[in-house]
Amino acid sequence: MPPSLSRRAFLSGAAALPLAATLPRAGLTLPLNAPFTVGAFTVLPILDGPFGLSPVLMPQAESMEGEKLVERAGLPAQGPWPQPVNVFAIKRGEHTYLVDAGAGATLGPDLGKAAERLAAVGVDAAKVEAVLMTHLHADHAGGLMAAGGGAFFPNAEIVVQQEEVAFWTDDGAMSRMPTAMEAMFNIARGALTAYKGRVRTVAGAGTAVPGISFVPLPGHTPGHAGLLLADGKDQFLIFADTIHSALLQFPHPSWTVVFDVDQSLAAATRKGILDRLVTDGIPVTGSHIADRGRIVARNMGYAMVD
Ligand SMILES: [Zn+2]
Repeated sequence: MPPSLSRRAFLSGAAALPLAATLPRAGLTLPLNAPFTVGAFTVLPILDGPFGLSPVLMPQAESMEGEKLVERAGLPAQGPWPQPVNVFAIKRGEHTYLVDAGAGATLGPDLGKAAERLAAVGVDAAKVEAVLMTHLHADHAGGLMAAGGGAFFPNAEIVVQQEEVAFWTDDGAMSRMPTAMEAMFNIARGALTAYKGRVRTVAGAGTAVPGISFVPLPGHTPGHAGLLLADGKDQFLIFADTIHSALLQFPHPSWTVVFDVDQSLAAATRKGILDRLVTDGIPVTGSHIADRGRIVARNMGYAMVD
């Protein structure tokens, strides 16, 4: 599968990453410490930190429509537009799980706050049974590793889609990617190595842990997936990186970020899951949005409502 990501787009995107260090704080609504329940599950969103989106990272936003939305939101035209990187702690009875682990030390000092914030709200790293991975990008998997590269969660297993592991451990896939992607491969590989012998892979829409199952959402990465919590009639979906900007991608679901390994598949997957959520009415949140709610169709796109 040839990456639709152009080398130039990716390189400029990668170069823009350090922008996260100079982000304005305003405009980022923190989901921090606002737990909610889904049946017997308690979900605690934890902000790992902000990252800065910009037209360089989402080229379709450099358009009249994009400029209008950005200006109306009071954001600078060229970015950075702060987006949250979220981690989710999930408790059910004696069980503690995480969805993703944040960036750890891999993406600069603004990110990687999940560890201390989890501790501050009483989530003991040693008690985390499983870290359910939406995908293995650095802002999700970097925090699996302690500063020295070992496992940050001493007793956790890592649960991840089989396709995701296959992609990041494939030397052929790595050699076909721009050199700037090498660091991403090395972080994913480092995380898998740190948990050698306790990485459990799931193929497709299988159970991750009791009551929580994967919803494959390929495109952003080959094994990118959401996690669906279900307890009786209560359901809730964490749709991961389906949306990188609620402001821009709910109204324009075809707009994609340069980090999507397959941009057209990512856009098709985004529309598919949003259509399904409109029909099913299942509430959602994601890794890079500050709200949760239900999805409705609006104009030619979608919106999130309470
Ligand atoms: Zn992400």
